[in-house]
Amino acid sequence: MPEKICLIDRYADRLPVGAGTPRLTLGEGDTPLVRAPFLESETGIPEVWLKVEGANPTGSFKDRGMVVAVAKALEAGATSILCASTGNTAASAAAYAARARLRCAVVFPAGYVALGKLSQAIVFGAQVVAVRGGFDDALRLARDAAQREGATLVNSVNPLRLQGQKTAAFEVCEALGDAPDALFIPVGNAGNISAYWLGFVEAARSGLATKHPRMFGFQASGAAPIVRGAIVEHPETIATAIRIGNPASWDLAVKARDESGGAIEAVTDEDILDAYSTLARCEGIFCEPASAAAVAGLRLRARAGGTQGLRTVVCVLTGNGLKDPDRAMALAGGLIEVDADLDAVCAAIGRPL
Ligand SMILES: *Cc1c(COP(=O)(O)O)cnc(C)c1O
Repeated sequence: MPEKICLIDRYADRLPVGAGTPRLTLGEGDTPLVRAPFLESETGIPEVWLKVEGANPTGSFKDRGMVVAVAKALEAGATSILCASTGNTAASAAAYAARARLRCAVVFPAGYVALGKLSQAIVFGAQVVAVRGGFDDALRLARDAAQREGATLVNSVNPLRLQGQKTAAFEVCEALGDAPDALFIPVGNAGNISAYWLGFVEAARSGLATKHPRMFGFQASGAAPIVRGAIVEHPETIATAIRIGNPASWDLAVKARDESGGAIEAVTDEDILDAYSTLARCEGIFCEPASAAAVAGLRLRARAGGTQGLRTVVCVLTGNGLKDPDRAMALAGGLIEVDADLDAVCAAIGRPL
């Protein structure tokens, strides 16, 4: 059976790659776009779609940009890559580095990385360094260390990352036959909202779409520098993937917001967790808390009348819920354990089946 066409090949004419760029792949991209009937009935929007980026090889959208960044690093003769990460960038970098047989080091903010992501970086064989500080400190250190050590920095400040990530916008247009009216997306370091905008602008220019979507980005209220218009020194949120106080792609995100007629707004951790469990219980989709920020934002806007006139919207579910099992387990009041006895089991189930 032929392998799935790799992302680099599929979009070779729209990516900064050439015949000499290695066709590195783990099967990234081509992720499901799933209809959300519960959210449609709740918001009154005729079509709500979920772009399930957790279906990527390492469980987040980061793979789209990482495959391009690592392939180009290989092409340029690099021997090692380096990144700062709230978790998913590290998981992705570590996987593609393993595939490409490159050395990989990742710098984390100590104590704020979800267990699944940390275990991925470890199993893929990356050198893992936790720094006592936040993501913004980790990024500053990774940039300086990359320079001193001669390693290729694969954070989204590397423009190749955004190039790869823009392919998700192409897929959305291909699947819907046009761009949606609006895109709802979480914002952390602000690379992804910028990459989608890049992709939608190119899609409209090439005839793949007839219009641009409005871009609605959402930060956690304890980590909302773009919303507040000022750096947040000590960002706090349960959504660790967007726990960022000084986004690297700040200006690009503002440009995407303004050119598209969209907005960047804050959602509370409570709203995020409510969207997180609603997606799981009412749509059957388990995403990570940061991803749920997009849906929290959609619901808030719908309640406030801010989605009037939108007929087709897409929410980007950036990462897989299995990344952060501790967060899921915190929703359970405790597990019920009984003797291996039919009456006891049925009593615990709560009703005769
Ligand atoms: C990286 C990440 C984000 C934030 O994306 P940015 O490009 O940093 O804005 C959101 N959700 C998940 C799951 C992520 O891994």
